[in-house]
Amino acid sequence: MTSTLDPNVPAIVLGCGPVGQTAALCLAAWGVPVVMLDARPERDPIGSKALCQQRDVLDVWDHVGAGRQIADEGVTWTRAVTLYQGQELFTQGFVDRGRSPFPPFVNIGQNRTEELLDEQIRANPLITEKWGHTVEAVEQDADSITLVCRVGTHGSGETVRITGAYVIAAPGNKGHLTREMVGMTFEGTTFDDQFLICDIRTTLPGWELERRFYFDPEWNPGRQVLIHPCPDSTYRIDWQVPPNYDLASEEASGALDTRIRKIVGDADYEIVWKSVYRFHARQVDQMVAGRFLMAGDGAHLVAPFGARGLNSGVPDAENAAWKVAFVMHGWADPSLIATYHDERHAAAAENLDVTAATMRFLVPQNDAEWAQRREILEAAKADPTDLAVRAQVNSGRMAEPFWYVDSPLTTPSADHPFQGRPPKGEDPVAAPGVIAPDVEVTLAGGDRVRIRALARQGVLVLVGADLDTAAVADALAGLRCPTTVLPLAEVDPDGEVAQALGARPDEAWVFRPDAHIAAVVTSAPDAAAAAYRAVGATAPATA
Ligand SMILES: Cc1cc2nc3c(=O)[nH]c(=O)nc-3n(C[C@H](O)[C@H](O)[C@H](O)COP(=O)(O)OP(=O)(O)OC[C@H]3O[C@@H](n4cnc5c(N)ncnc54)[C@H](O)[C@@H]3O)c2cc1C
Repeated sequence: MTSTLDPNVPAIVLGCGPVGQTAALCLAAWGVPVVMLDARPERDPIGSKALCQQRDVLDVWDHVGAGRQIADEGVTWTRAVTLYQGQELFTQGFVDRGRSPFPPFVNIGQNRTEELLDEQIRANPLITEKWGHTVEAVEQDADSITLVCRVGTHGSGETVRITGAYVIAAPGNKGHLTREMVGMTFEGTTFDDQFLICDIRTTLPGWELERRFYFDPEWNPGRQVLIHPCPDSTYRIDWQVPPNYDLASEEASGALDTRIRKIVGDADYEIVWKSVYRFHARQVDQMVAGRFLMAGDGAHLVAPFGARGLNSGVPDAENAAWKVAFVMHGWADPSLIATYHDERHAAAAENLDVTAATMRFLVPQNDAEWAQRREILEAAKADPTDLAVRAQVNSGRMAEPFWYVDSPLTTPSADHPFQGRPPKGEDPVAAPGVIAPDVEVTLAGGDRVRIRALARQGVLVLVGADLDTAAVADALAGLRCPTTVLPLAEVDPDGEVAQALGARPDEAWVFRPDAHIAAVVTSAPDAAAAAYRAVGATAPATA
């Protein structure tokens, strides 16, 4: 392994929200020095916000040291109850057939997640935080990028220039100034209806482990209410409210208390956080502008039903970080950076499609859509066992990873084609583009290691018994990044990994640095070609 990394030239992370935090930690995990900056004077958590974290996101945070604690502190909910006009339509139990050490979803407030990520950041000598730095301009040339920052909280301070090799920007939903600085557009729509969120500490016996979704309850007619359990006996209650909703006057009149009592009854309660917000459905046209990579809410905004906001910002951060790190180390060609747009723009577009369908059902835009929604809900009420009708009741399709099936970094396999989305709670069928199944190999000496953890060290190749592992390792010798080549039969004596992959003895499985499967091939030269392609490196010329 060789590296051209200059320890005096950092990568810069703009924005210390959870996406920026993840990007900084992932960059540091690749050994890259990081300067991260934020306009805010300090961490000032404002409530739960992103609440529901998906297991592959927990896994990314595990890679940077915080995932286990985030998962352990969160509430693992196991039932999703859907009601219409007070009648239960159906209850979906989460049958976890996955192999992950993490549950499918945990609920934990973004404020706590940020605290736990901060602990990792503060303990990491490669990361320097600069709060109270508002980025006002971006300058870049062929060799570097500079952020021109105003220091201080009210635009009053001096101007400083911070220069690095690349910027991963996560400026959040108010990132319009940052987008303008690099010429990115942010087309899309904003929904009229507002949503009132209250985090309420109370006792709701029996509801501790279930998510409840109410269509048209008599106490919020024509609209919906979503209730999620959170840690510390707290419940997130999310009411859809009219465009002209006024929280201040509802508080003053006592109507807010009445609204809450419709749910908690006579129980004591305390409002921990409240907020009114509007949903947006927007996406930047380009996620890369030269040395500037846009991530998280700054790049895409979706309605939160299905929890696809932060759950897609974190994979943005991991994807951007390994690509920036590989280019800074000289392990990949600079052209690798463009594939960040290819992969994560497509991911955001999929999230927009999925959430748009949900919003059409939740907030019909015309009489025909209202009529259709009523028809579906009435049919589900009349026959709760009709699975076809039930499938049309759309309260949000929960976040899932995006598969890089059509990515320029993926080598397709005719023997292992992408088989589409798995049923809820199940792992996808392993194929190029899909994240690796979460299984372990046994290394010499007996250590059990997750293949995702091995992949996240560079490139991983698992070689079937009919192929020559040494020949595969030789073929990959020109790769400059950390590379692990293992004989599958030896590290997987029980065949658990082979079974999870559906691997044949004549195959080699190539994994990317973000633990996605890059290729399934049947020769050493093909393994090398796929590995170079997967990390955007140029194979040495052959004589
Ligand atoms: C009410 C609500 C509920 C939500 N629920 C969920 C959920 O259940 N699940 C889910 O996945 N997502 C949810 N989300 C979305 C989630 O909160 C966001 O996806 C997440 O905060 C995005 O993180 P981020 O790091 O991209 O941006 P942010 O957290 O917004 O951070 C951006 C940072 O950039 C800084 N910044 C901006 N511009 C500049 C500049 N010019 N110079 C310096 N610094 C700058 C800001 O100060 C800020 O600290 C919810 C959001 C809201 C509002």
